[in-house]
Amino acid sequence: MTMPRREFRHVGLAFVFALSVLLTGHAQAAVDEVAAYKQAVEKRFSEWLQGLWPEAEAAGIKRATFDANLKGLKLDWSLPHLVLPDPAAPGGPALPQVLADQMKPTHQPEFDVPAGYFKEGALSSLAATGRSKMNQWGPQLAAIQRQYNVPASVIVAIWGRETGFGTVDMPFDALSAIATQGFMGQRPDEFRKQLVVALKILQEGHATRATMRSSWAGAMGYTQFLPSDFDNYAVDFDGDGKRDIWSSIPDALASTGNSLHSQGWDGAQTWFYEVKLPEKFDCTQQGPDLARPISEWVKLGVARVKDRPFPEEKLGDPTFLVLPAGLKGPAFLATSNFSVLKLYNNSDVYAIFVGHVADMIAANAPAAFVGTWQPVERLARDRIQRFQEVLVAQGDDVGKVDGLAGFKTRRTIGLEEQKRGLPLSCYPSSALVDAVLKEASAAAR
Ligand code: CA
Repeated sequence: MTMPRREFRHVGLAFVFALSVLLTGHAQAAVDEVAAYKQAVEKRFSEWLQGLWPEAEAAGIKRATFDANLKGLKLDWSLPHLVLPDPAAPGGPALPQVLADQMKPTHQPEFDVPAGYFKEGALSSLAATGRSKMNQWGPQLAAIQRQYNVPASVIVAIWGRETGFGTVDMPFDALSAIATQGFMGQRPDEFRKQLVVALKILQEGHATRATMRSSWAGAMGYTQFLPSDFDNYAVDFDGDGKRDIWSSIPDALASTGNSLHSQGWDGAQTWFYEVKLPEKFDCTQQGPDLARPISEWVKLGVARVKDRPFPEEKLGDPTFLVLPAGLKGPAFLATSNFSVLKLYNNSDVYAIFVGHVADMIAANAPAAFVGTWQPVERLARDRIQRFQEVLVAQGDDVGKVDGLAGFKTRRTIGLEEQKRGLPLSCYPSSALVDAVLKEASAAAR
């Protein structure tokens, strides 16, 4: 049957209209669902905050401080890596699909290859700015160095690495970010404690709610202290009565000096020596638990780069081998100060970065590594994590199963390579990962 053209158009319009009502209705339902869910979670969050009172009181927080800061505090839904409750509360609305989807990472992160961390241009520009900061804050830095026995160049390098000397935006209200992490972050117990300490900082008047800004992970001020770091190490260096790591550069830098000093920094010691390894050196000998006196490394053929001698008086000092890219990159003998830098941020490349920039600042010269970062494969983190799980199941020590190649994973890789007669690298490769995963799935069959 043919339909008159005019009527057809009429029906068509009606259809479009009905469809749009349907779609709008659908979209509206989704919006309502999200709003109801969030409302239920916020309600549970405010109950959770109230439940914090006994801990806060025990930590010396006054009721007035508690109420003034936590009453009406809202969750920050914009933080990454949240673990949204499902359901919102017992018997409450389920987690809407649209929110669950938003929380999924858009791509599987690759793990960062060390070379990407050490871009020559970025290092040089950080060191250049670092040197101008050394001049600008010369007297204060000299006083900080004297008091804490930590080189100013190291403190300035940390300042540069953490916040680009304060140029990186700190977009979050620290209290809200920390409370959100405590309520529905990846490490809730840790941040629940941090929240109580954050209240203490506010109560003591070192910052106000307006000035107490942080990164999404709750790290605050020029050199990125968590509240507990603040509590343990922050100092008032400019003498105004406040420990102000957010807007007083002397306070922030002295606090960093104090943190390194208090955690065991040895003022008579460097952080690492770049070294050259003999051909086919056994890279499974890396890691802080395999420390040896420098003299023993020398016996094994390890030498400083550029034919520099090791300082005579340090030959008996324990040092350990760090190979962030296995045998495919520069090699370092690290001292106890390297381990102190890792307390700031638990990563070999972080400690090398900070130490290296400090060297560049102090030498007032570009100081490229002598070893080269050779091309390495980029593997997905979840693949490395599966690989680690298999290694753990067969009794190997890989450290944390996190999809990253820390020193324990790197040396276990070396052992597996030796076992299979593969060229020794101590660095993840798809050849080894595939071989290990394939064996595991064959064994499971
Ligand atoms: Ca101060």
